[in-house]
Amino acid sequence: MTLTVLFAASNDDWHRYAPALRQAFAEADLQTDLVTQAEPASVDYIIYAPTASLQDFGPYSKAKAVLSLWAGVETIVTNETLTQPLVRMVDPGMTQSMTEWVAGHVLRYHLGMDAHIINPGHKWVWHSNPLASERTVCILGIGALGSAVANKLLGLGFNVNGWSRSPKQVEGIQGFHGSEGLAPALRTADILVLLLPDTPDTENTLNAQTLAELPNGAFIINPGRGPLIDDTALLAAVETGQVAHATLDVFRQEPLPPDHPFWSHPRITVTPHVAAATRAVTSAAEIAKSIQRAEAGLPLLNLVDRARGY
Ligand code: NAP
Repeated sequence: MTLTVLFAASNDDWHRYAPALRQAFAEADLQTDLVTQAEPASVDYIIYAPTASLQDFGPYSKAKAVLSLWAGVETIVTNETLTQPLVRMVDPGMTQSMTEWVAGHVLRYHLGMDAHIINPGHKWVWHSNPLASERTVCILGIGALGSAVANKLLGLGFNVNGWSRSPKQVEGIQGFHGSEGLAPALRTADILVLLLPDTPDTENTLNAQTLAELPNGAFIINPGRGPLIDDTALLAAVETGQVAHATLDVFRQEPLPPDHPFWSHPRITVTPHVAAATRAVTSAAEIAKSIQRAEAGLPLLNLVDRARGY
């Protein structure tokens, strides 16, 4: 039986993903018709990115799953026409990219690299850095990405703590959970990494009150989502030195507007949502695995829980 798989994303995405998907489907022995347009009632699976024109999932009455190309599903999860199971992207290539990006920015702060890279007075100021084992990185969100980042940082010798909604056991990590666990987790964070999803519960996780829980002079790295941080409170915290420096990859509005104060602040680094893109080849293999599982009657992995919003 040939499965009709609708690719609903941008044209650029189509050119990037189509060859990888065709190869992954062939390797998984899936007979598919991969298309960008189809009679809705004939579609078996939808591969989806929010950049697609498709917004009404109602007519796709036969579709067994919607497979998101993105890890963050905040713009899809509220779509009331979407009644099909929604699978978020967990992609080994994206995960590796996130671990590398976070490790790089953690090491920048840990080693105090800026003082040597930006040294206009050519000053010879000797100092000894603490060892990684003397520094604690706290990760808010110990999911697919947060736990991989935690393992990478443990491998570099850092103390790593994590915070999640439910209790989590990750070897080598001290875990905190729930709203009552947030302040104790923040108090340990020499360097704080945000890898939470954007949900109504996580909005402004970092605000004036919670920023005050951080050790004075903490560093913040946010590759999660912009709404996790109250922008005004962060600006105030970097002004007073409560936060020594922040690196932000994601914003409430993207691209970040040219006049936004984050761009010009000397203690804020802006990166243009580059931490971890979905990789065509590795994600295509994951999509093929999901379709294989569904066709075999096995439960889908990485299903989004609509009530939780992630
Ligand atoms: P995930 O596997 O769903 O993990 C989410 C983590 O956040 C889980 O540990 C979860 O707790 C925790 N969490 C959710 N709501 C919470 C709450 N109210 N309080 C405390 N903890 C809460 O997600 P992921 O795949 O790791 O991705 C995380 C996010 O990274 C995505 O949603 C996306 O926004 C972002 N992202 C950014 C980029 C980029 O390039 N910048 C790329 C990919 C993804 P439980 O373990 O208890 O469920």
